[in-house]
Amino acid sequence: MDDKRSDDRRSDDKGAPGGERRPRSRFARGGGRGRTRRRVCRFCAEKTLPLDYKWFDVLEAFVSERGRIVPSRTTGTCAKHQRRLTLAIKRARNVALLPYSAS
Ligand SMILES: [Zn+2]
Repeated sequence: MDDKRSDDRRSDDKGAPGGERRPRSRFARGGGRGRTRRRVCRFCAEKTLPLDYKWFDVLEAFVSERGRIVPSRTTGTCAKHQRRLTLAIKRARNVALLPYSAS
């Protein structure tokens, strides 16, 4: 009688999980290619770190081996500094301090 009905409902329950969603951190994603993933913006953490196109050895850390700018979600750079960083990298490319692409 009623038992049958509750049984039917049970099978329905399957489709509705009890909110077992894991809010995985974006930074905790696997598949990092051996690069260090930072959680804090390097430029915020180190106030003395220059963010200028002339300091290509600093910029180099934010450019992949293929010459591409590493996304901020990988490096942890904040939006403000990422903007300045891309600009600096583009300038550095322009004056041939950094490559546009891998040779
Ligand atoms: Zn920052």
